Amino acid sequence: MTQVLIVEDERPIARLIEMSLSRSGYACTVADDGLKAADLLEDRQFDLALLDIMLPGLDGLELLDYLKPLGVPVIFITAKASVRDRVEGLRRGADDYLVKPFEIEELLARVETVLRRAGKGGHLLRAFDVVLDAPGHLVTQNGAPVELTPREFDLLEQLMRNRGAALYRDVLYERVWGGELTDTRTLDLHIQRLRKKLHWGDKIETVYRIGYRLRKDEP
Ligand code: CA
Repeated sequence: MTQVLIVEDERPIARLIEMSLSRSGYACTVADDGLKAADLLEDRQFDLALLDIMLPGLDGLELLDYLKPLGVPVIFITAKASVRDRVEGLRRGADDYLVKPFEIEELLARVETVLRRAGKGGHLLRAFDVVLDAPGHLVTQNGAPVELTPREFDLLEQLMRNRGAALYRDVLYERVWGGELTDTRTLDLHIQRLRKKLHWGDKIETVYRIGYRLRKDEP
């Protein structure tokens, strides 16, 4: 699991970030001051840090000096007013920044981009509350592992890689089972099981005369 350190002294914001990232399959640790964050960095490894700039203890810019030598990518979370801090943060090596208040979607997009650029966690596919780790052959929903058969896994991977696109039954069958579609029931049964296991009845859509599509929009 991708480990994210959140350093933010405003409780509601820290909570919001933690909840959103956990739901998307990240493991989060929250520190509400800079010194606690520095202590955590001494005994644990993180893949990404989200830092507020104005913090008790050590401020975000000082923490950046701890993080850079460790190779941990950093996203600053700054108040709208502190443009100068933001510029300073980027100049000193932060990977990106977010301005408060921000949309959750934007937060998730920034996190993914920074992780991908850093070569960490970019292989994860995400849709709604599900994260699929293709090389690790692991699926989690709201952070909890979901048991899938190999075929169900492959089918879900196809749907997630092609999210929003209608996939023909015979194409899906060929990609997952590796042969020509002779019996549509097998495919339909696997789709039903996926819908049931993930509670995705309304998210994996049946496309009349074509096949299936994973919805793109949030419900
Ligand atoms: Ca603060």
